[in-house]
Amino acid sequence: MKRVLSELLNLPDVVVESSLQEGKTLILSVTKKTKSAVCPQCGKKSHHLHQNQNYLIKDLPMGDKEVILNINRRRFKCKTCRKTFNEELDFVGVRKKYTHRYAENIIKQLINIDVSNVAKNNGLSEEEVYSMLEDIIKNILPINVSSLRRLGIDEISLVKGQGKFIVVLVDIDSGKLIGLAKERKQIIIENLMTTWGEKVLEQIEEVSMDLTGNYKNLVEKICPNAVITVDRFHVTKLIHEELNQARIAEKKVALELNIESREKVFDSLKGNKYTILKAEDKLTDKQKIKLDIIR
Ligand SMILES: [Zn+2]
Repeated sequence: MKRVLSELLNLPDVVVESSLQEGKTLILSVTKKTKSAVCPQCGKKSHHLHQNQNYLIKDLPMGDKEVILNINRRRFKCKTCRKTFNEELDFVGVRKKYTHRYAENIIKQLINIDVSNVAKNNGLSEEEVYSMLEDIIKNILPINVSSLRRLGIDEISLVKGQGKFIVVLVDIDSGKLIGLAKERKQIIIENLMTTWGEKVLEQIEEVSMDLTGNYKNLVEKICPNAVITVDRFHVTKLIHEELNQARIAEKKVALELNIESREKVFDSLKGNKYTILKAEDKLTDKQKIKLDIIR
């Protein structure tokens, strides 16, 4: 069971020692497999455990359970320096209450909805979402772009109608966040992308971006082999908007019908495929072309 849970948890060198279920919450007590830690002062390995220190952090959910990790960030004593130090844990920042991947997942949700709704959906405060964003911008995530082939550039509106945007760069194939910029200035994105190196920029085959095509010139300049396509997130958003419009319109009609036929209409509205097809019919030709591009 321990082994299965450790595999499911999938954090490098981390083992689940025990688990506890409390309603919708799964608490996993975890520790690092390694019996030693490297002293940050002198770089020497220490095997001398000084103290166990447990605390709770949030991690990605499993099934319908919220997951809390009871982690042991051990304190070691360095025999050379004669000082104690905390072991480094690569999956959580110092004094943070959530794993890196938890924060990454929250920030990815911002692609489709705004800060207040992401906060609400995840039982977080808006401040917490902002602070996760800050963490990620500060580059706490180990970013590996060596196999990047398809890049997504997306502008995210943080607060509706306030013109507050961030720019997100995603590896489309792995779904990983590979870059974040606080402002939507071309030069900032260019500087960020050039840190990946020429080899990576040359191997990029496709860059998808939003309907405005704001970064088209930049991509043409620095990614010589990339084809530019319309960003799927934006197209998805577009479809959702159309879908909601279609639902509202049909609900309105249904309210004017008698009860029996009203129920029929509501039933048909529940069938997802039907509604999606309907919504798609309502797309303009221009939107349909864009939709075809991404299929
Ligand atoms: Zn030392």
